Amino acid sequence: YSMTEIIDGNRVAQSIRDDLSEAIDELEDADVTPTLATVLMSDDPASETYVSMKQDDCAEVGIEAIDVEIDPDAPAEELFDEIDRLNDDENVNGILVQMPVPDHVDKQSVLRRIDPAKDVDGFHPENVGRLVAGDARYKPCTPHGIQKLLEDAGVDPEGKDAVVVGRSDIVGKPMANLLVQKAEGGNATVTVCHSRTDDLAAKTREADIVVAAAGVPEMIDGDMLTDGVTVIDVGINRVDADTEKGYELVGDVDFESAKEKANAITPVPGGVGPMTRAMLLYNTVKATGLQHNVDVTL
Ligand code: NDP
Repeated sequence: YSMTEIIDGNRVAQSIRDDLSEAIDELEDADVTPTLATVLMSDDPASETYVSMKQDDCAEVGIEAIDVEIDPDAPAEELFDEIDRLNDDENVNGILVQMPVPDHVDKQSVLRRIDPAKDVDGFHPENVGRLVAGDARYKPCTPHGIQKLLEDAGVDPEGKDAVVVGRSDIVGKPMANLLVQKAEGGNATVTVCHSRTDDLAAKTREADIVVAAAGVPEMIDGDMLTDGVTVIDVGINRVDADTEKGYELVGDVDFESAKEKANAITPVPGGVGPMTRAMLLYNTVKATGLQHNVDVTL
């Protein structure tokens, strides 16, 4: 494709953060500091990194971050008690429990325990239901960030054929829901593919927009795409490589061959990842405005 746009997630995320600082000023005028509590019950290094990045992001825009850590061997009750305490704390506007939680903790019970008004991940069944009903309160961060990337690239899904590869609760399903909604950023005709899909390539070749969220390194290549397609690569996969760390991060899309076909494509890293982080800040600011009846500009 002659002039493929490489969609710069870092740039779009920065403009989201710039806009947020205005809203945060409006909250400060009402003597409110938006506050996010992160809860980590894991010693997995990746989870620790994700939480510390979220803490740093908050600090950068002026959101107060509370860092709660729970011994991964502690009983589930300890996590539930902590969530109850944060639910009751008026100074806490958003609560994020970093997933995965240990096996002895029931994940769905954790999601249900969080006050839906403070559920800035948007994973509580009430918020999932509201999204599906077309009355979203907190859109899940990754698909919401992808909507912003498409908007920035001037790609309106209306009337387009969109293929979402992956049906997880955090990416694939909410992405498909947002794309099919009768609303701005939606109105696409959506096909959701997964590991049981017969002939994935036949589906992706029909697509005007492909969102790849399968967690399989570089599984979608240029041969599976049509000319002029918009490609959003959600995947973050570690593959062995001759680097200092011994690995590198690649997406679910084979960037070089896909770029030949695409009118616009996100890189990995620097595409969807920064947007996921920015939209968490967005939801935290939105939550704070709703809880304090401050009409923030978002
Ligand atoms: P999950 O593992 O929860 O879901 C993967 C989905 O892809 C499943 O629905 C699975 O099908 C499907 N799938 C797996 N293999 C294939 C295949 N060969 N063909 C078609 N479909 C397949 O992953 P997540 O949704 O949580 O994450 C997906 C990827 O995105 C990961 O690489 C993750 O690291 C990354 N990620 C990136 C984020 C970001 O901010 N950039 C945020 C969140 C995730 P089935 O349901 O049948 O098992």
